[in-house]
Amino acid sequence: MKVPFVDLKTQYNSIKEEVGAAINEVLDNTAYILGKSVYNFEDKFAKAHGLKHCFGVSSGTDGNHLAIWSLGISAGDEVIIPANTFIATAWGTTLCGAKPVFADCHPDSYNIDASKIENLITPNTKAIVAVHLYGQPADMDELKKIAARHNIHLVEDCAQAHLSEYKGTRVGSFGITSSFSFYPGKNLGAYGEGGAVCTNDDEIASKLKMMREHGSHEKYTHLVYGHNYRMEGIQGAVLGVKMNHIEKWTEERRSAASLYKKYFKDIPEVILPKEMDYSKHVYHLFVIRTTSSEIRNKLQAYLSEKGIATGLHYPIPLHLQPCFSHLNYKKGDMPVSENLADCGLSLPIYPELSEEQIIYISDCVKSFYN
Ligand SMILES: *Cc1c(COP(=O)(O)O)cnc(C)c1O
Repeated sequence: MKVPFVDLKTQYNSIKEEVGAAINEVLDNTAYILGKSVYNFEDKFAKAHGLKHCFGVSSGTDGNHLAIWSLGISAGDEVIIPANTFIATAWGTTLCGAKPVFADCHPDSYNIDASKIENLITPNTKAIVAVHLYGQPADMDELKKIAARHNIHLVEDCAQAHLSEYKGTRVGSFGITSSFSFYPGKNLGAYGEGGAVCTNDDEIASKLKMMREHGSHEKYTHLVYGHNYRMEGIQGAVLGVKMNHIEKWTEERRSAASLYKKYFKDIPEVILPKEMDYSKHVYHLFVIRTTSSEIRNKLQAYLSEKGIATGLHYPIPLHLQPCFSHLNYKKGDMPVSENLADCGLSLPIYPELSEEQIIYISDCVKSFYN
């Protein structure tokens, strides 16, 4: 049996007609950049997350940048970021000329560890970025308390967490700003690049709207600095159609995760992802942990021989990335993130993953350990 790591084709086939019609409408209207399809999608997406303002942008990375840039963060400022995340979280800060300061992650949630943040705060600290990694929210109550105590901003990177919930509230409105990614493999994926930046603050919203479009509300008058971060009409159309299905797809991801947990119950060598009691996890990734990097690498090779594709998220934590060598972190500084990098293995997970495939994967993992 072959199990790919992601399967975009099966989902496309299930919505082919609907998507085709929506794309044709964009073409007929020649609304290639922003336009009705994007504004309709923004409304649907904002509603689904209880957000007042949502702006479609050109990628999640660009959303990360605007989420920080719109707060006036610049050179000399510091932003606290988890060491265990995708690099784009840090680009939001570095593109503003500010310095990323890395914090280790929590051993159960794999998200930024609130107890490790306060001794990183200096007079230059302007914000904390909470990443809801793998689809599970970070501990927002604790992070909000720390941000309030030190009068700094809390920002959310929701790139992997569409529709996920913290204590019953969907992510995206806990921070002053938040960003999402619609990279094709994300839980809500465009057919190209796409992202969003969101806020409930009217003043910041007005700035964000200008900043994604050359800093202007009105053509050729530029009130603030900005960039070309606009979403394309075709991506808005695809995402608008997908919003009609995302609730169901999210439940199917959660069902797949439950099945994994059921069939892996009798494999004591494997540490399964924990769903924290404050969270509704949306399982962008299903990351298991082994007891050593040697075993992890062998297991990955074994599964590959059996036709099962797996991934590493992420093999090098941010504090050890060559591009940040000038910040002088060393191996051992972030033990939990480093352990995940060495021992974590992402198994395939998507709405279309069948019980049969999950049984096959668990059988292969069992035979590996036997
Ligand atoms: C995917 C991702 C991004 C970047 O999104 P793009 O749309 O690929 O630019 C940012 N942060 C995290 C945590 C991500 O997983």
